Amino acid sequence: MNIYDYTLSELKEYFKSNNEKEFKAIQLYEWLYKKRVNNFKEMTNIKKEIIKKLEQDFEITKLNIITKQIDTDVCKYLFKLKDGNKIEAVLMKHDYGNSLCVSTQVGCNMSCAFCESGRLKKVRNLNSYEMVLQILQVEEDLNIRISHIVLMGIGEPFDNYENVIKFIDIINDPKGIDIGARHITVSTSGLVNKIEEFANNPKQVNLAISLHAPNNELRSKLMPVNKAYPIEKLITAVKEYIRKTNRRVTFEYIMLKDINDTEKCAQELAQLLKGINCYVNLIPYNETSHTKYKKSEKNQIMRFYDILKKNNINVTIRKEFGSKVNAACGQLRSNYEEVK
Ligand code: SAH
Repeated sequence: MNIYDYTLSELKEYFKSNNEKEFKAIQLYEWLYKKRVNNFKEMTNIKKEIIKKLEQDFEITKLNIITKQIDTDVCKYLFKLKDGNKIEAVLMKHDYGNSLCVSTQVGCNMSCAFCESGRLKKVRNLNSYEMVLQILQVEEDLNIRISHIVLMGIGEPFDNYENVIKFIDIINDPKGIDIGARHITVSTSGLVNKIEEFANNPKQVNLAISLHAPNNELRSKLMPVNKAYPIEKLITAVKEYIRKTNRRVTFEYIMLKDINDTEKCAQELAQLLKGINCYVNLIPYNETSHTKYKKSEKNQIMRFYDILKKNNINVTIRKEFGSKVNAACGQLRSNYEEVK
């Protein structure tokens, strides 16, 4: 198994079961995540016999970067996994730091009508190490540190729950990459059973819900997941999550021209979210050649924004990134497959 797939406590167990001291796991973690060595031999404070054993028991291989597209504030990567599958990660430079949008699956089964990722159905879940390596390799390639992680790349994180939780444990560890829980955001299309489970997770990770419509009729058209988990159930789960964690939730709302950006939708959304400790993130749609949807006009977004504000809903408009580099979820991979 790949060494980047292990939490610190799993490695402590590993050393213990090999009759070695647990602190060796901390040394190993520091070599991997603080000093960033690429092979076991460079770990000079670890005994030769242990290095040999590590080499036998673990792989330390990385992903391959197939291509990258660079713009001023965004850099998009296409990676090849060991089995040949391809995934994407997008680095965004904000004034508050560097944020990486990480993929969680090869393809996606949610089939959202507006989304590029779903054009390629889920092939498999990513292992935790394949998510960890997206971070390590972008940091190495650009010689930067990433301060924020959003799980908003290809895939539905809550459809790969175990590996995602383990990934968060690994990158949050102070002895490892040490990305603060409050700097990590998991985005879900609304898998209610997993939101309920996530409410019991002790880490202060942010939760974002892809809402995109204020009623079932429209939401089911845009997001088939709504047929299994309709809005009432979703909102109940979110309220319960807030009650248990005391954390504010983000609702993401893509602005699709003449579809969900009307004043009526804004009013309806304000009613739906009234009294919930949340904020709404209005997302200018990143148009793709494969869907009929268009991005809302700027003044329509502003009108929508004003209605929410007037109704005392916290609302922000997401800065646009990467429309030039096709950074909408799944676009790079999907275009690459097409050219081939
Ligand atoms: N499956 C998860 C996470 C991946 S998608 C989820 O649905 O939340 C991350 C976010 O990007 C979601 O809110 C999704 O709806 C949005 N998105 C997908 N395609 C987009 C596009 N073309 N433009 C803008 N946002 C998009």
